[in-house]
Amino acid sequence: MLQDIACEVRGHLGNGKVASYIPELKKVPKTKFGMAVHTADGVEVSVGDAAEPFSIQSISKLLTLILALCRGGDEVWERVGKEPSGTPFNFLAQLELEKGVPRNPFINAGALVVTDYLRQKVGAVAPVVRDYARVLTGSDGIDVNTQVAMAEFAHAHKNLAIAHLLRTYRTIHSDPSTLVREYCNQCALEVSCSQLARLFLPLAAGGFSRILGETVMTERIVRRVNALLMTSGVYDSVGSFAYRVGLPAKSGVGGGIVAIAPGKCSIAVWSPGLDRSGNSLVGTLALELFAQRTKLSVLG
Ligand code: GLN
Repeated sequence: MLQDIACEVRGHLGNGKVASYIPELKKVPKTKFGMAVHTADGVEVSVGDAAEPFSIQSISKLLTLILALCRGGDEVWERVGKEPSGTPFNFLAQLELEKGVPRNPFINAGALVVTDYLRQKVGAVAPVVRDYARVLTGSDGIDVNTQVAMAEFAHAHKNLAIAHLLRTYRTIHSDPSTLVREYCNQCALEVSCSQLARLFLPLAAGGFSRILGETVMTERIVRRVNALLMTSGVYDSVGSFAYRVGLPAKSGVGGGIVAIAPGKCSIAVWSPGLDRSGNSLVGTLALELFAQRTKLSVLG
């Protein structure tokens, strides 16, 4: 099935825009396409460039949220909401209107709050996120691309503005510049589709990690994270994404999307051309085809 999907999307490769606001990401060819599926009972399949590491960007927000919930329980919800934003991922004005409380943990403002929260608990966040990804995939090679992180930080004026606004409202405690640097590091983690599907398999398996042979997050966390992915995982495209794909998912401007079919499998796709909301264009199409064929989504 993955081979068929890869054939069907081929004609669309090259469409969309790469995230040129992070200069290093401009260098990635738009024709890349990879897809991997891991089932809850342990089958792993992949197609195309599924073994090639890419910049996970906002998919890292899913890792920081899971870590924050595992370490601090519901505490984090005192500082960030659970509603879809209906605005682009780095929108500033909503934050001021809503007195410095971000709508959800997946827009940049919310992710900065979660990273700030984690910094208080664990110190430097990016190495903790990296090690978590290494352990849950069983791959020691996963790392942060410091060039991508530095390139993003050099142009991170909007994220700095968001962090300063958060600091004004005391939603964060860190120095805004230190926090945004940390956030750029976590976003610059490089992971392949095969590794991503493996990494997030616990969200499709009641919190159980097949790699470790143990439960790594409670069922309560799994259910709640999947709900937030369904309502906020792909920013201001969450409605049209649900309409087409119908699965909880998290995207990143590196062109990756991770989707969860609860109880069944995790799916990772990668193709760098993005739609207007910053979600992979071909990745969304591939997930739509997958959901249609497997009937694993809420769309039936
Ligand atoms: N690092 C990116 C940013 O803050 C992540 C955005 C994304 O992947 N949607 O702009």
